Amino acid sequence: MKKHIVIVGAGFAGLTAALELDEREYKITVLEARHRVGGRVWSTTLANGEIAELGGEWINVKDGKVLSMLDRLGLSKTEVGVNFLRRKVIAGAPVPFAEQAVAIDLSAKTLAGMPEEAITSGTIRDFINQLPLSPPQRKYFFSRLQISYGLDLHQVALRMMEVYTPNQQKSINIDGSYFRVTSGNMSIAQTIADSLEDIRLGHEVSQVGYSKQGVTISGNSVDGPFQLEFDGLVIAVPVKVVAEFEFQPPLPLPIKNAIASIAMGTAAKITVATRGRPTLRAYHDVETPFWCWTGNGGDGNVRKVITAFSGSVEALNKLDTNSNDPAVWFQKLKSANPDLEFEGDPVMVDWSGDKWSRGSYSAFSNQATDQIPFLTNSVGSVFFAGEHTAYQSATMEGAIESGLRAAKQVSEELK
Ligand SMILES: Cc1cc2nc3c(=O)[nH]c(=O)nc-3n(C[C@H](O)[C@H](O)[C@H](O)COP(=O)(O)OP(=O)(O)OC[C@H]3O[C@@H](n4cnc5c(N)ncnc54)[C@H](O)[C@@H]3O)c2cc1C
Repeated sequence: MKKHIVIVGAGFAGLTAALELDEREYKITVLEARHRVGGRVWSTTLANGEIAELGGEWINVKDGKVLSMLDRLGLSKTEVGVNFLRRKVIAGAPVPFAEQAVAIDLSAKTLAGMPEEAITSGTIRDFINQLPLSPPQRKYFFSRLQISYGLDLHQVALRMMEVYTPNQQKSINIDGSYFRVTSGNMSIAQTIADSLEDIRLGHEVSQVGYSKQGVTISGNSVDGPFQLEFDGLVIAVPVKVVAEFEFQPPLPLPIKNAIASIAMGTAAKITVATRGRPTLRAYHDVETPFWCWTGNGGDGNVRKVITAFSGSVEALNKLDTNSNDPAVWFQKLKSANPDLEFEGDPVMVDWSGDKWSRGSYSAFSNQATDQIPFLTNSVGSVFFAGEHTAYQSATMEGAIESGLRAAKQVSEELK
C-alpha cells in the first residue's frame, strides 16, 4: 500500500515536495490555511487586466531550480527587461550604474580576501561601513540591501551577503537577466496544485503528535476542528509559524532553538495600473527608502503596471503601510514617476501583518547562521521544508530547493 504523506503549506516549498512525492508513488494530502495556493507568491490582475506580483517577483537567470520547474510544468517565462541591480537613484545624490557595479565588485573581492573568523563574526552593516565607497555609493548600497533584507543590517550575518560564495552557488551576476512567469509567478503553484488529487484549502494546522501509524496533526478548518493521521509529514510553513506549532513530544532542543533563532524581515509592495504604456525603468529612492520598476509582459510590450517594494520597519513606518491605506506610498510613487497616469486604485500588501507568513522572508543573524544544519534534520516521520531551510533562503529558488530536498529525505527515510 502507498505511504500517505501530508504536506502542510501550499507555497512553492510544500507544493514542490508534493509534486515530487506524488511522482514517486506516495499518496499525498496538502493542507493549506489560506483560501489560495502560492503563499508568499501572489499574482493579481489589476483594473486594466495586467498581471502584477504582490509577493515573490524576480527570477534570476541563475535560479536554476525555478527555471527547471517552469520547463517541467510547461510554463513560459518573460524577460523583464530591467536589471534588479541597476537602479536610477532618485531623492538623493546620483550613483551612476558603473559605480553601483564597482560597489558590488568591491564587496565580493573584499569578502574573498577576508579571514574566515572575520566573516563568521561580521554583520552586513559593519562590512559596508568599512568598504572604501563614496558617501552616495555607500548610502545607495546600504539602502538597497537594507530594504531587500527587510531588517536592520547590523542584525544580518555577513555570511548572508548577496556576494558571499562559500561553495560557488550564491554568486551574483551584475549583468544577468531577470524573468517573471508570463502568466504570473503564482501559476507555478496553481499548476502543481491542479495536478494533485487532495489539496484542502482553509485548513490551519496547529499541533503535531506522533502515533503508531506515524504522525497525527490537528487544527481548524472552515468545517471545524480536525485531527488526521498519516505515515509522514512535511512541514512547509514559514519559520515563525513552525515556531508556534505545538509538538507532542516537543522537538529536540537543537532543532527548536534553530527555528527560534531565525528572524523574519518585513517588506511591503504597492502596485498600480497605468493608463498608457510606461517606458522601462528602475528607480531607487534612497531617502525613504523604496524602489519601483516597470517590466515587459508576455506580448513583448511593457506591462501597463508600476510596482514598488520596500522593507525594514523604519521604511515601512515612513510609508505608513501598517495603516493599510496606500495613500502615503502612492503619493511618493506618483512624485517619482511624474510622466505616468494611473488607472484604478493601487493595491498594497504589507507582509509583516500577514498571519500565515509573519513577515516577508527569513533573515539570519550570526547565531542563527551557526544553527542552519539543524533546520533540515527530520524527527521520526516529520520533515521540514520552506525557504528558511534552504541554502538560497529568502527566495523562490530556496523554497523549491527545500521542497526537492525534503522529498528526497522522505523517499530515503520512509520507504
Ligand atoms: C514582498 C515579497 C517580495 C519577494 N520578492 C522575491 C523575489 O523577487 N524573488 C524571489 O526569489 N523571492 C522573493 N520573495 C521570497 C519568496 O516569495 C519566498 O521565499 C517563497 O515564496 C517562500 O515559499 P515557501 O513555500 O517557503 O513559503 P510560503 O510561500 O509562505 O508558503 C507557506 C504556506 O504555508 C501556509 N501556512 C502558514 N501557516 C499555516 C498553518 N498553520 N497551517 C497550514 N498552512 C499554513 C501559508 O499560507 C503558505 O501558503 C519575496 C517575498 C515577499 C513577501
